[in-house]
Amino acid sequence: MSARILVVDDVPANVKLLEARLSAEYFDVMTASNGTEALALASRAECDIILLDVMMPDMDGFEVCRRLKTDPATHHIPVVMVTALDSPADRNRGLEAGADDFLTKPVSDVVLIARVRSLTRLKMMTDELRMRAITSLEIGMQAPERSAVADTGRGGRILLVDDRQSSYERLATILAAEHTIDVEPNPTEALFHAAEGNYDLLIVSLDLNNFDGLRLCSQARSLERTRHVPILAIADPENSTRLLRGLEIGVNDYLLRPIDKTELLARARTQIRRRRYTDHLRDNVQNSIEMAITDALTGLHNRRYMESHLATLAEQASTRGKPLALMILDIDYFKSINDNYGHDAGDDVLREFAVRVRKSIRGIDLACRYGGEEFVIVMPETDLHVAGMVAERLRRSIAGEPFAVHKGTKRIEVTISIGLTTLEQKGESVADVLKRADTALYRAKHDGRNRVVSQAA
Ligand code: GH3
Ligand code: MG
Ligand code: MG
Repeated sequence: MSARILVVDDVPANVKLLEARLSAEYFDVMTASNGTEALALASRAECDIILLDVMMPDMDGFEVCRRLKTDPATHHIPVVMVTALDSPADRNRGLEAGADDFLTKPVSDVVLIARVRSLTRLKMMTDELRMRAITSLEIGMQAPERSAVADTGRGGRILLVDDRQSSYERLATILAAEHTIDVEPNPTEALFHAAEGNYDLLIVSLDLNNFDGLRLCSQARSLERTRHVPILAIADPENSTRLLRGLEIGVNDYLLRPIDKTELLARARTQIRRRRYTDHLRDNVQNSIEMAITDALTGLHNRRYMESHLATLAEQASTRGKPLALMILDIDYFKSINDNYGHDAGDDVLREFAVRVRKSIRGIDLACRYGGEEFVIVMPETDLHVAGMVAERLRRSIAGEPFAVHKGTKRIEVTISIGLTTLEQKGESVADVLKRADTALYRAKHDGRNRVVSQAA
């Protein structure tokens, strides 16, 4: 996994040093010697991580970081402040500016590489989501960048796993100022608790009695429900080597005891903000997948989805030797509904029609809008006789109750015709089944509409 790291420092020797160490680990390195240059590079080229010196003439690192984090084009790039200053006040200034982490000069090799690797993993995952979410932007969905830049990171739901009462009481009090916090003193319950609670952040102590906190972190990473919840580890200084191991297995950030109040709050906010951003991206991806297979007017599946899924269903039915029923439904004289009551009324009818269809079929049945006022329903493990009863029930549910249009001010009679058939021969093509159903539908129309015609294979 190679990533491109931008190293920013006004002292050439410092740049050379970091560049050499990172290159030795096969990272691709770019450099800048001041803030202006760094901002230009970050907004133009795709760098994955920025290592940012704090003390620079003109624009200092805090200001560069603040600008990066408030620009929708660069806010998602992890920024690590590299600083000779190491008072809590300095760290907090950086965290307030939105920094993701700190390295203290002189930078330890092990910590540098562990940090950069862990942030690279995170960045790769975010990039993958951003790339997929671009599709959703193209079809007009809300860009998550704007809300991400405005998010304060407050108001999160946090689970704190810590079995030392004096410790968790203090941490909970601090965090409660900005978040909703649950404490789980029993580590064996913690994973279950985390999976059930829909948390934005897990804070896990690595100094638990008779329990390996890292094991909990690794379990949380592999469990579907907690996989994407960020983990902030806390440890006594003598446990700090285990923190590096933690970063390798997916811990997102850590703090050493004694814990500084402001720093804890700042790091929690950073993790929560990032969690919300990636969740938002993930939702966009999910929505765009759904939009691609759904008909916007009725919420039923669209024709494209039906055609690809029908092939799978037919194959399954053939190999398992089970029947598969398919019907085509067409609204009678739909054109005259549009002509007499307007296109909006026609749309109302289509929407209400879909609602009634959904009520009449099972969860495993597949209903889709095949064309304008034509629909297809596929019913696995259903023979012609049973499918005929379903079709008849459906026909009655349409004809038996007028459709409300124009916001309920008008009610109109609607009927449908249905052509029904089944796939029974092994290996019969889907196109042939559809054609047979269509022929049956044609007969239903021809014989007077508002009826079901079945056509055995
Ligand atoms: P038949 O009983 O033979 O099926 O007659 P019909 O009028 O229902 O059939 P025809 O195929 O002649 O007309 C279908 C009409 O459906 C024409 C088209 O304008 C209308 N239509 C197609 N899609 C939509 C839609 O999304 N909304 C509305 N309101 N009308 C639509
Ligand atoms: Mg019609
Ligand atoms: Mg038609």
